[in-house]
This record gives sequence, structure tokens and C-alpha cells, in this order.
Amino acid sequence: MKQPKNKFETEAIRTQMERTKFLEHSSPMYLTSSFVFEDAEDMRASFAEEKDRNIYSRYSNPNSSEFIEKVCKMEGAEAGFAFASGMAAVFSTFAALLDSGDHIISARNIFGSTHTLFTQFLPKWGINTSYFEIKNLESIEAMITPKTKVIYAESPTNPGVDILDLQVLGNIAKKHQLLLVIDNCFASPYLQQPIKYGADLVIHSGTKLMDGQGRVLAGITVGSEELIDKIYRFSRITGPALSPFNAWVLSKSLETLALRVDRHCENALKLAEFLEAHSSVNWVKYPFLKSHPQYKIAKKQMKAGGCVVAFEIQGGLKAGQKFFNSIQLLSLSANLGDAKSIVTHPASTTHSKLSVEDRIAVGITDGTVRVSVGLEHIDDIIKDISQALAAI
Ligand SMILES: *Cc1c(COP(=O)(O)O)cnc(C)c1O
Repeated sequence: MKQPKNKFETEAIRTQMERTKFLEHSSPMYLTSSFVFEDAEDMRASFAEEKDRNIYSRYSNPNSSEFIEKVCKMEGAEAGFAFASGMAAVFSTFAALLDSGDHIISARNIFGSTHTLFTQFLPKWGINTSYFEIKNLESIEAMITPKTKVIYAESPTNPGVDILDLQVLGNIAKKHQLLLVIDNCFASPYLQQPIKYGADLVIHSGTKLMDGQGRVLAGITVGSEELIDKIYRFSRITGPALSPFNAWVLSKSLETLALRVDRHCENALKLAEFLEAHSSVNWVKYPFLKSHPQYKIAKKQMKAGGCVVAFEIQGGLKAGQKFFNSIQLLSLSANLGDAKSIVTHPASTTHSKLSVEDRIAVGITDGTVRVSVGLEHIDDIIKDISQALAAI
């Protein structure tokens, strides 16, 4: 793991591109698709990669470079590439690194679009995926074949907020010389740095906690220079690059990541404790509640519990819908990590197409509710959830 010079918060604020002659305090926005050359020799040398400089914003741009450098310092990574969305990062990472015939071993509980990518699209190019149960990491070794290249996981998971032991995953990957790729979006680099535990690549959807204000889509993959170079070569040709404007927004957002995530986690823990004591709630899952099945692992690898709380209300599907319809202040939306608190009822919305058995397999019962706890005053968040619980 690469150690930055200063503490996390300082790097998040002070990592900045070189100032121009105007000595601006805040980085300017470089809304330019291309860059100019001094002469023929300059252009030749630039295209021959004898110089490290910007040529065209599909390859690189000062704003995305600043964003990438910050995230690298936050994650302890050598290099990175920034994408237009989290899914562009996930897809491009696999497309760049895997060949036809290669095999992925993935946690069963992963982000829905990533699951669809693995099951419906990667097989078109002969890349197949096997799934391990997140409560049984020991089963991974038996699934390894000579074709296996990657172990893939998220922690905490969505929407079940389960925790996977990153050190155990790191040890298995190292022992079998497999790449460990972790989607760290739910934790953000502030709460957890997977490279410490042996991850080779870390992926983020910048859309979530990184932007944190629901404005832009973004993604990023960071890791070793060697792996990122392969991802860069694929991406500069296929064009999933982050726009300079969105990179500028993201880079600014990261200045307040630590502050925001601290408050998200403080509010989320308070809400989780309130729910745990509520008579209409069957169970609550939040990584930093003592009752969480992987509480000890969460404490070991995370600084705090994150912004997502899952719980089950009594009364199943009907009560879930009634609760959802009774929410007044919080947003009914599909995003997370936003300053605005967001409630979802997966069984009647995002996961309604799944059979009850398939839903249960990924930890979603009919009464499961997921709250992405925002930055409003905690009293108002609790007041809204409390009145919606009283309405069921
Ligand atoms: C949202 C999300 C993604 C995808 O990110 P987009 O920016 O929406 O493309 C990937 N992984 C996780 C865990 C997510 O929550």
C-alpha cells in the first residue's frame, strides 16, 4: 500500500493540480476536448508517449487527473482511471483485464447491474462467473479452476449490509495468485481501504458518497500501475471517460468527504438504535450495531458503519408498501450516499421481478426496508420514520 505524505483529510483537500499564472486558489475547470501542440515534433513525441501530457480528453484531462490523484491517495493506490459512471468502471475493468475463457468468482450479493453484467453480458465473450455465499468464504477455494482470474466482492453489501472479511479474501487471492477486485462504494475510501488487505483493484461509483449530493454520475478504478495501464489502454480506445465538468465537481466533493461521512455514520447509528428498540421492527442490520452478525469484522476493517441501515418491518409486503407510502420528508429514490435521506422498499420496487426465493437468497424479505441515512437533522429523520411505522 502506498502511504500518502499527509493524513486523509489533508490529502483530500490539498491534492491539487499545478496552479496557472492566475494563482487561483480553487482548481479551474478545463472544459476542452483536446489540447494543442507546439509543432510537429511536439505532436510526434506526445503520440509516441515520450511525454506525459494531455492530448485528448478521452485519454486524460487535468480535472480527471486531479480527481484520480486524490482517490489514489485516499485508497493508497499507485494509479487510477476515472469513468463516466460506476458501471463503466466495473465493465471496463473486466473487459480490459479478462480474455475469453476466463472465470470470475464473485460474491452472490452484489450490486444489481453488476450481477446482470456477469450473468447476461460477459458470457457473450466467453467470460463466466461462479457465485460464493457471503457467509461461507471458505467455499471459494473449491470453486477455483485453472481459468479463474478474479475474485470479486463488495462490503458492505447492498441492500443487506452484510460484511465480508477483506483479509480472508486477500489471503485466498494471494495464495492462488488471483486478482482481488473490491467495489468499495458502500464504505467510501474514508471508512475502509481494501488495498490494505490485499485488494489489487478498488472500484467506486463516485455517484454515491463521493459526490454525496446527488449531482453527477462517476466511477473510478484504482490499483497498481501495471493493472491500471491495461485498463487505461482499453478505455482510451473505447471511450468511457469521465467528463471534465463532473471530475471537477467530484474533486471538490472529496474535500468534504470525511466530514460528511462522519455525520452520515453518526446519524445512521442513531437511527439503527432507534429502530432496534421499536416494537414494529423485527430486526435491524447496521455494521456498527453489536447485534450485526459480522460486527467484529466490521469494527476491524471499517472506521464507522456507513450510511445504509436495513431493517424488517412487521406485516410483510403490505406493511412495507404502507410504510413506503407514508414517508413524508425522506425521498423515495434509488440512489444512496446523498445528503438527502432515501428510503427504498426493495421487494415492491427494485427487486419486485425476482421470485420470493431469489429475493431471500440475497437477503431481501417482503418487509425489508433500506434507508440511506442523509445529513438532515437526525431528529427529523427519526420523526419521519417513526410516523410511517405508526401508519402500518
Ligand atoms: C451504484 C453502484 C454501482 C454503479 O454505479 P453507477 O454510478 O450508478 O453506474 C456499482 N456498485 C455499487 C455497490 C453501487 O452502489
